[in-house]
Amino acid sequence: MDKIKKCRVYLVGAGPGCSKLISIKGVEILRQADCVLYDKLIGKDLLDYVSADAEVIYVGKDKAKQESINELLIRAANNHKIIVRLKGGDPMIFGRATEEIRTLIENGIDFEIIPGITAITAAAACSAVTLTDRNTASSLSIVTGQNAQGQTTRIDYAGLVRVKGTIVFYMTVGNMRQICQKLMKGGLDAETPAIVVANASLPNQRIIIGSISNIADKCKQANLQPPAVMIIGKKCVSLLQGKPLFGKKIVMTRDAEGNAEFACKLAPRGAEAIDMHCFEIQEWTDKKEFRQAVEKIKNFDWVFFTSPNGVRIFFKGIKKLRKDVRVFGDTKIGCIGSETARAIEEYGINADFVPVHYTSADLMNEFVKKYRPRGKKILLLRSALAEKMEIKGAKTENVSMYTAVKTSGGISNLDEEIDWITFASSFAVKCFFEKFDLRLIENVKIASIGPVTTESLRKLGIEPTVEAKEHTIDGLVEAMEKYGNHE
Ligand code: SAH
Repeated sequence: MDKIKKCRVYLVGAGPGCSKLISIKGVEILRQADCVLYDKLIGKDLLDYVSADAEVIYVGKDKAKQESINELLIRAANNHKIIVRLKGGDPMIFGRATEEIRTLIENGIDFEIIPGITAITAAAACSAVTLTDRNTASSLSIVTGQNAQGQTTRIDYAGLVRVKGTIVFYMTVGNMRQICQKLMKGGLDAETPAIVVANASLPNQRIIIGSISNIADKCKQANLQPPAVMIIGKKCVSLLQGKPLFGKKIVMTRDAEGNAEFACKLAPRGAEAIDMHCFEIQEWTDKKEFRQAVEKIKNFDWVFFTSPNGVRIFFKGIKKLRKDVRVFGDTKIGCIGSETARAIEEYGINADFVPVHYTSADLMNEFVKKYRPRGKKILLLRSALAEKMEIKGAKTENVSMYTAVKTSGGISNLDEEIDWITFASSFAVKCFFEKFDLRLIENVKIASIGPVTTESLRKLGIEPTVEAKEHTIDGLVEAMEKYGNHE
């Protein structure tokens, strides 16, 4: 009993799915946790914050019984000091927090609740729909589309309509038709706008716009899958309408994580990002070559990172080796590309050199001119697919931290009405066209990230509609937006 009292259970809101939408306090506790019990809908990247020694338990199985989760909580409290119960969205909204908190209280276990961004505020932000409005919606009703028994009957729909504010439904996909019918029966005008947002904040976010009389059909037609929320209100409109990428279906062909990052830039513009990852990144940080490189980084004058992926893989790799940022000693750090520099900044490091140009040749010239590295020892931490680089006069060592391999992931056909297909590397071009017939893309616009990728497309007889000026994902987005503005 004494042992139990020394522990504390934190019910932490993980946010709607995008792992960046957790609170700083939530991350702090996750870092300290020695046991984490997590739900199905949380951003899996959040588990990267958890210490390698911690016990991590998945409790999100579809048929998981609340009682067994409660038992696991008590067991965790018996064995650990800082326990995180990581819950999707906000723990206090349709999160079965009552049952868990009661269990903790009954067992004399201390607890604290850290709020999270709930699905509906995320969905409102992602679709740019305001939930309240000074003139038209002075209240917000939060309703479940499914009560504990999986029914919609206990809700007073006429009462909801009488309030005259915005009404939002969680757990809505299965019962959408009945919900809308009951609202109409309760007196709500059939033309009242309704917006459904599925997977808000995630790469596969989708927004369906309609009215309560047709939204269920539209969602069915679009084969919309949960999790989704529905927002209903007199003036419920997306303020993104009219933006150049609004409603555009954009295929992304990077690896799944790269696509996720890309989608985070497309979704706020109202675009529908379609995950078509044809390859995946394979980390090589378990290899001897990486371990040896980490051991001797301090002996180099410069170390270069060539991509944001490389930066993240490196830090994940050294964490596994139980090392930290001190591995660099006084070694100077170069980053190819502003995105790589931004990635390393997240680890508290300001790159000493970021070239203005991105192609290897330009980079080397710029570096040699500025630092005259004759006789200096330089380490390049890179992808196995990238060409090896040599810096004139310097002793250059190339170490591959990762590679990319073709996969059959993402969507498997392209018969939807696609507006854009985007390519962020030659490897993506190769993998994509090994899978898809060129004729399929006849009426689709193509966006290329830069000259090297464009060259690979041209070799296949494809002329990109736009090429990014800045050879980054932001540049790619900008190129499509510019085109859209003049369409
Ligand atoms: N505690 C959570 C809700 C859990 S109930 C929160 O605060 O968000 C699960 C329901 O939440 C789903 O059925 C769906 O209606 C909604 N939901 C969760 N994540 C969502 C997301 N990313 N996009 C849209 N709806 C989501």
